[in-house]
Amino acid sequence: MYCSFVPPYLLRRLSLLEDAPVAEAAQRALGRDALIRRRRNAVCARIGEHPGILPPAGPGGEGLHPTRRISDAQHQERLPGVRVRTEGEAEVQDPAVNEAYDGLGYTFDLYAQAYGRNSLDGAGEILRATVHYGEDYDNAFWNGTRMVFGDGDGKVFQRFTKSLSVVGHELTHGVMQHTANLVYQGQPGALNESVSDVFAALVEQHRFGQTAEEASWLIGAGLFTDQVNGSALRSMKAPGTAYDDDVIGKDPQPATMAGYVDTRGDNGGVHLNSGIPNHAFYRLAVLLGGNAWERAGQIWYDTITGTRLGRESGFAAFAEATAAAAESRYGKDSEELKAVTAAWTEVGVLE
Ligand SMILES: [Zn+2]
Repeated sequence: MYCSFVPPYLLRRLSLLEDAPVAEAAQRALGRDALIRRRRNAVCARIGEHPGILPPAGPGGEGLHPTRRISDAQHQERLPGVRVRTEGEAEVQDPAVNEAYDGLGYTFDLYAQAYGRNSLDGAGEILRATVHYGEDYDNAFWNGTRMVFGDGDGKVFQRFTKSLSVVGHELTHGVMQHTANLVYQGQPGALNESVSDVFAALVEQHRFGQTAEEASWLIGAGLFTDQVNGSALRSMKAPGTAYDDDVIGKDPQPATMAGYVDTRGDNGGVHLNSGIPNHAFYRLAVLLGGNAWERAGQIWYDTITGTRLGRESGFAAFAEATAAAAESRYGKDSEELKAVTAAWTEVGVLE
């Protein structure tokens, strides 16, 4: 179980730059990512393991509280590193430690307060994170038990704790591991990626009290330095527009099935075609209006924690599962069900 935030095709592009420090940082991140993948022999999924389906929980997580442990790798590539802040301890000097601590808390809060879920496994799992991993490490990842953040190279990427959606995205891979556990390849892999983006966006919106109309729907905002012409890694509102830069290229995500990318790279385009279900969720949220974590988020949450998905479900099966989830929660003549169907039709997944 290993999921990194920055997709391999972007790191590969950075690794070819003439700017030696940036190229070397990207090469190290690529090499490190490949090594970790080989060691774990699985990517974002534990093959052969059945998902632990938990009964859907409703809102009402007022009594639930996180248990957080933040460690500092001190620029080594060893985990977990030195423990620097645990639950209830005061802020420290290091902003990366405090950002990680707060980000884990805001992610816990969304799942607890909106869906009554007690941490990633639903049973109070300790939230662990390590900051300052490696030298100028250009990535952040979930390794199956902990979140790990690099400091970035400082020229293209800033430190990865800066973006709350990075934390929400990676921890949702932890939730996925305990729920639908979609295979990290092809369409189920793109859905796995998309579900992480959906709840990452919802973590930020819940934290800042933004409605679907007010929210940016950007994933990884604040990660690029001001030398990059881009606002984030991905946009759910307008996939393909998050960045367009001479150095790092243009955001390659499609928004609809018309732009579907057939590729063997990136585990069959998991970070590319995730733009399609991402945009479907955005369209649903805007059609329903108000707070996206309420009805739209509830439908997605019911879908990944329910029994209708298989580990290899593709886009059409996922779309049908969201429609079934909307119908069972809100009824067959409901506005919610109509909006779900309309959203998937707009992106070309349903006819
Ligand atoms: Zn991911």
